[in-house]
Amino acid sequence: MVESAFDPAHEFQTLNFKAETQQLLDILIHSLYTERDVFLRELISNASDALTRMHFILLTERDVLDPDAELAITIVPEPDKRALRIIDTGIGMTADEMIENLGTIAHSGARAFIQALKENNANPNDIIGQFGVGFYSAFMVAERIEVISRSYKPQASPARWISTGRETFNIGPCEKVNRGTEVILYLKEDASEYTQETRLRQIIKKHSEYIPYPIYLGQDKQ
Ligand code: ADP
Ligand code: MG
Repeated sequence: MVESAFDPAHEFQTLNFKAETQQLLDILIHSLYTERDVFLRELISNASDALTRMHFILLTERDVLDPDAELAITIVPEPDKRALRIIDTGIGMTADEMIENLGTIAHSGARAFIQALKENNANPNDIIGQFGVGFYSAFMVAERIEVISRSYKPQASPARWISTGRETFNIGPCEKVNRGTEVILYLKEDASEYTQETRLRQIIKKHSEYIPYPIYLGQDKQ
């Protein structure tokens, strides 16, 4: 758990990452990785998980936002802004869910990664692909990340999470009409290759071949 949950009385709030998350972020931000392509696999896998959860909810519930939206992933490179957007029509997140899910390292991959680094004095490069450190791996390539999300629950408000991966993140309300999540990576100077469509296509083919949803690349269908 992070220190406090979202307080709707305040427009934008700054919250601290948990200590162990900060530790992971430090490792990701300050090491030079040769295996950083895996960030895209992690973000696509999160989008796919969110779509699968939506798929199961739709089997029994129709009182959801955008019940007829196609379950899909859209990847939009923006070379002019040196940005990359990964968009899904999955279950989405409320502000509280973003604080909970994007503020901690609950999942085992990230824990095991830190553990292996400590115990074996391993080179992060050798093991990052193996453990899959999840969402935070995007900080290998991004200097700032924004997550804009809207939950499938019809009453929930959209929210925006912003962080440079250093100690804190900001969370607050925003505009988003459609259900789902948009992760916007503002890429590091040396990561502009991830705005090239051919490069992205190659990574998707290599690391995300068996994703059971369409992955659109290059045009924003929303
Ligand atoms: P893991 O996928 O192993 O749980 P991650 O670090 O990859 O760990 O993601 C953390 C959590 O953030 C996920 O469990 C999920 O709850 C939430 N999350 C991340 N990306 C999305 C997304 N695109 N849509 C909805 N929830 C997401
Ligand atoms: Mg994940």
